[in-house]
Amino acid sequence: MPSLPAREAAAPLFAQDVLQARAAPGRTVTPMPPARALFLDRDGVVNIDRHYVHRVEDFEFVDGIFDLCARARALGYRLVVVTNQAGIARGYYGEADFQRLTQWMLGVFEARGTPIDRVYHCPYHPTAGLGAYRRESFDRKPNPGMLLRARDELGLDLAASAFIGDKDSDMAAGRAAGVGRLIRLLTPDDEAAAPQAADVTKVASLAEAAALLEPDDLPLRQSSPIRAD
Ligand SMILES: [Mg+2]
Repeated sequence: MPSLPAREAAAPLFAQDVLQARAAPGRTVTPMPPARALFLDRDGVVNIDRHYVHRVEDFEFVDGIFDLCARARALGYRLVVVTNQAGIARGYYGEADFQRLTQWMLGVFEARGTPIDRVYHCPYHPTAGLGAYRRESFDRKPNPGMLLRARDELGLDLAASAFIGDKDSDMAAGRAAGVGRLIRLLTPDDEAAAPQAADVTKVASLAEAAALLEPDDLPLRQSSPIRAD
């Protein structure tokens, strides 16, 4: 009986081989890369921040948001919106208003070919909230609760993920959760020379942020599929 070819005898068993062996004959299994996400703050990143936006007519998309999301999806990022909604706590609008606006927003992203995977919101405020909405919340940025829930529910690798926000509290939430790339979109109110944490990259536009998502720019674990060769 002839001995096995050298490669087969000596080669260690790779995950790819295991997956192929389990596949039905003639089928190819592509391993799932570790999931990573692009987290987006909403007000000031997805839409222009007009303070407590809760109606479609006041919701104006930030320039470049659809191109950014399309690029992120092409690079394998899941898209996750994480938004503090203290307007609900303050009684300026209700959960139903927020959900109605969110459904409309999701429909627009869908129609543009860049569906959003998940939206998380925190309706609480520790001091200005009314009734049951007046409380501390682990979800309220700068706390990392929404990001950690997304990690658990979507199986995300946060170190390989990125977060674009327009406030220090966004960056603090991302930092606390261990998000690998923190991107701060400068607002007109920002002093150009304002001190900034060393782990935050400042950008003046979402186009600039999109360029930071390129794999070559990420000093992070790569999420390319396991290679057979
Ligand atoms: Mg914001």
